[in-house]
Amino acid sequence: MNTVDKIISQARSENRKALLEPEAKAIIKEYGITIPKYQLATNEKEASKIAQEIGFPIVAKIVSPEIIHKSDAGGVKVGLNTVADVEAAYKTIMENAKKYDPKATLLGVLIMEMAPKGTEVIVGAIKDAQFGATLMFGLGGIFVEVLKDVTFKIAPVNIEEAKEMINGLKAAALLKGHRNTDPVDIDALAQVLVNVSNLLIEHPEIKELDLNPVMAYAKGVNTVDARIILE
Ligand code: ADP
Ligand code: MG
Repeated sequence: MNTVDKIISQARSENRKALLEPEAKAIIKEYGITIPKYQLATNEKEASKIAQEIGFPIVAKIVSPEIIHKSDAGGVKVGLNTVADVEAAYKTIMENAKKYDPKATLLGVLIMEMAPKGTEVIVGAIKDAQFGATLMFGLGGIFVEVLKDVTFKIAPVNIEEAKEMINGLKAAALLKGHRNTDPVDIDALAQVLVNVSNLLIEHPEIKELDLNPVMAYAKGVNTVDARIILE
């Protein structure tokens, strides 16, 4: 069995529909999507040891099958610069998560390399009852939430179609360099869409996928959060 099938059958055997962030990350990595380094810590000392191995700055995030939106639970801390910061973040995140959902199983805290600030974009996918796997692309924050500036295409999506999705945004000009910002790597972004398309076509067990956000840079992209829901 390959890595992706193994993760999916493990989740199924535990009756979990929402994959854990490290599981979702391992799957997209198999499909050639770049992600920051990470490792799960189950206590404060382990957290600081992993952080030193990865290098600062560090991001720490709750890992729990019941907590899907980690920030809402006070479960994400970014910009941790020292061992003391990481140990304190571990403690605070576990406490916050316990308060947020006393019944949640807390598996530990994901210690992750912090990606530099980029332009945050969202790659999503849903299985439409009529059209099957459908990809979505948008810019992060208010562009999706308030302005609903997103584009869709039915999978499979090739590199040209992926670029059409990106260029089809009303705010596409923001990705091409604007006042103080550099243009972002459209080719690398389009490749993420193609890779997600391949994943969905080869794994129809996936019902929903969200890469939110993908950090886009002048050269390259980095996917810092991934969520996968199974059928
Ligand atoms: P959730 O969406 O479950 O609340 P995220 O993993 O998306 O949690 O984290 C919240 C925010 O923290 C992201 O939108 C991003 O801005 C920032 N972030 C998360 N992980 C990283 C990382 N590895 N490097 C840089 N920024 C990150
Ligand atoms: Mg997110």
